[in-house]
Amino acid sequence: MKAVRRFTVRAGLPEPLAELSTLATNLRWTWHPPTQELFAAIDPGTWTRVGDPLRLLAEVPANRLEHLATDEEFLARTNALSADLRDYLTGQRWYQRRRAELGAGDPGGNGRGDHLPTSIAYFSMEFGVTEALPNYSGGLGVLAGDHLKAASDLGVPLIGVGLLYRSGYFRQSLSLDGWQVEHYPVIDPNGLPLEPLVEPSGAPILVHVAMPGGRVLRARVWQARVGRVPLLLLDSDVDGNDEDLRGVTDRLYGGDQNHRIRQEILAGVGGVRAVRTYCELTGHPQPEVFHTNEGHAGFLGLERLRELMSGQHLSFDEALSAVRAGTVFTTHTPVPAGIDRFPVDLVQHYFGDGALLPDVDIRRVLALGAEDNPGMFNMAHMGLRLAQRANGVSKLHGEVSRHMFGGLWAGFDTEEVPITSVTNGVHGPTWTAREVTESIGEPSAPRLDQVSDAQLWDLRATLRRRLVTEVRRRVRDAWLQRGASSLELAWTDTVFDPDVLTVGFARRVPTYKRLTLMLRDAERLRALLLDPRRPVQLVVAGKSHPADDGGKALIQQIVRFADDPAVRHRIVFLPDYDMSMARYLYWGCDVWLNNPTRPLEACGTSGMKSALNGGLNLSIRDGWWDEFYDGSNGWAIPTADGVGDPLRRDDLEAAALYELLGAQVAPLFYDRADGVPAHWLAMVRHTLTSLGPQVQASRMVREYVESAYRPAGTAVELANADGFRAARELAAYRTRLGSSWQHVRVLHCEVDLDADARTPVLGDRVRVRASVELAGLADSDVRVEVVVGRVSDNDELYDVVTVPMVMGEQGEYSAEVSLPHTGTLGATARVLPSHELLATPVELGRVVVAT
Ligand SMILES: *Cc1c(COP(=O)(O)O)cnc(C)c1O
Repeated sequence: MKAVRRFTVRAGLPEPLAELSTLATNLRWTWHPPTQELFAAIDPGTWTRVGDPLRLLAEVPANRLEHLATDEEFLARTNALSADLRDYLTGQRWYQRRRAELGAGDPGGNGRGDHLPTSIAYFSMEFGVTEALPNYSGGLGVLAGDHLKAASDLGVPLIGVGLLYRSGYFRQSLSLDGWQVEHYPVIDPNGLPLEPLVEPSGAPILVHVAMPGGRVLRARVWQARVGRVPLLLLDSDVDGNDEDLRGVTDRLYGGDQNHRIRQEILAGVGGVRAVRTYCELTGHPQPEVFHTNEGHAGFLGLERLRELMSGQHLSFDEALSAVRAGTVFTTHTPVPAGIDRFPVDLVQHYFGDGALLPDVDIRRVLALGAEDNPGMFNMAHMGLRLAQRANGVSKLHGEVSRHMFGGLWAGFDTEEVPITSVTNGVHGPTWTAREVTESIGEPSAPRLDQVSDAQLWDLRATLRRRLVTEVRRRVRDAWLQRGASSLELAWTDTVFDPDVLTVGFARRVPTYKRLTLMLRDAERLRALLLDPRRPVQLVVAGKSHPADDGGKALIQQIVRFADDPAVRHRIVFLPDYDMSMARYLYWGCDVWLNNPTRPLEACGTSGMKSALNGGLNLSIRDGWWDEFYDGSNGWAIPTADGVGDPLRRDDLEAAALYELLGAQVAPLFYDRADGVPAHWLAMVRHTLTSLGPQVQASRMVREYVESAYRPAGTAVELANADGFRAARELAAYRTRLGSSWQHVRVLHCEVDLDADARTPVLGDRVRVRASVELAGLADSDVRVEVVVGRVSDNDELYDVVTVPMVMGEQGEYSAEVSLPHTGTLGATARVLPSHELLATPVELGRVVVAT
């Protein structure tokens, strides 16, 4: 018989064990080993199998729980851990100390006080917090999960907002011929670490979002507790919804554009409504700052516009000023095809009838997403237009993003485009093996001076051995799933060798990640794997998007290569890459390989997780590795930048990879004295001490606080003060600029060089004067700058410095400039907008340069 319905029954815990329920539902257990040990002690066998406290409690026999309820030692441990969790949730942490240092804002003052927000909403379409809550597809989700966890550890008052996918998360297996097969297990929220958001009466809260044709999309709100951070997940699978609307949150990145825009409307518009309700119910402060993790959730800005227009009677432009002040936008993709776009007609369909966002003019909405193609609505462009602060996710990606989106700030040099960067990080306590922490302390502040080479090597060998065991288990399971009989699988007991140099390569398989680069010269790879003295073993994993047959073909190539009995003991493809598998790989691999096509990897984080455990990176200098590679913490695969033919480029870079592996990496690994590879371990030490502190998500979140949340909080406070005075003024100012700007001119610009005097030398101060037609604007409305730098043959300025000019008595602007370079220099003057609510003078994309 097959069940027609599934549901979950939670264990009724004996009263003395009640605290176990709190410890099981707060996901802090996922990064707190003592709590994991407590659950393991309940039933070690079941724990090893399920690895999830809620499932464990549902599966242990009632008499075991009865027994534990009388076990004094167990009760004492439970109560101590419960008290520890309470302290963690309520104590003063970094953010609270930072607030105290800065003074708690400047209440009643001019609003210019440094203001750390009391609450920040973080929107993302996916969250990978733990495999016990499978609600992510890849790196973006895992990053969002790490962001929440680090925020929790630091005491940053974040609220996460996203969707709960019913079968969002696909499991990957392989067919006999190596083709990816997907399964979509359906989750039951009642069996997950989630609680429904309910009215005081106990009735579930439903968020409503209007759909065309007078329909309504309803969503329930589930809450997960990620340490101190609530994570709200909207779920459209509720009774009142029409059948097609019930399916809105069925899958992550499945379905067509219509499905997708419904998801994004629910996440953005519904998400804001969910946060509002959550805060009203719980007394949690309403968010002052909204962080959009990638463009997908960008509709949140439209809902906030609506709130201000209908609730505060602001005009669209006034509301826009206030919304922009409090919005932070992070872009994650340097691949133009990766940008989320919708046909304008589709946006018109959902927003055009005015039911979804009453008061908000559809034409203004469409203008926010405008791009070169008039038929398309660009979510990244909307993200940038709705956020005063924007960033990429590594230094290189910041640069690439300034190029990619520079068109929105036409008239400015690429370096001036107001998109900064905050390099991603990973949550140390989640990704570091316990043995590493036990031996060197927290990787954010590693102590290695007391650890001998022999101990360090022992640690690495332990982690590698554990990976080998896991590889064997998974290879065997994979073959059983592919239809093999256990009788023919004895060989899987000896795949991999715990003493062989182990290289890991695991990631999703979009083209730019070049999963199959290593197969470019299959003979050379085979020779490296089978080298009798210095063999290499390679573990590969990765999922392809279900609709991407190209990606599946790449996986098949790897699988076919690895199926060959001549090499299958040295190379494996493990199906179903996810957080639980990833952990073993990051712990156990000696080398972490990454070979994207530069500069298409925005950051990459798996190499960081490997580094936390003493793995050495062997990577193209892309994303994070471009800024963190220092010559002795791993290897950089040389890139053939500028080689136009992609196949030739692949050949060159693959050859460089083989060369590095065979001539440098393997010899270093196998160079032993007393059984220990001293030079290798020197690199491991250097990696742990130099990268350990840098790659932390706590470093990343602190940077977001200082460079984004804090200035945004300050701007919001200013914008909203005195009935939105500054927001209204900025809107009025923008209107004035709109009518005057085209008439603003730099009439004249002069550098005072005394014709008879000596040639100026570097550092000399010269006066630059300019006269400016302000076209009715006041001096205080503008910033006039002198720009001095080198000049190219066609008079383009580069390597410039800018200095503000001051208006003198005759209305002439002037400034003294210290000459910044030798050689041929040039100067010009330019006029920019100036207003106290602008984060930078570049922001409005307006500039007038002397001609
Ligand atoms: C860290 C992680 C990723 C992201 O790794 P990249 O290097 O950014 O590709 C993807 N999936 C899982 C399960 C991860 O843990």
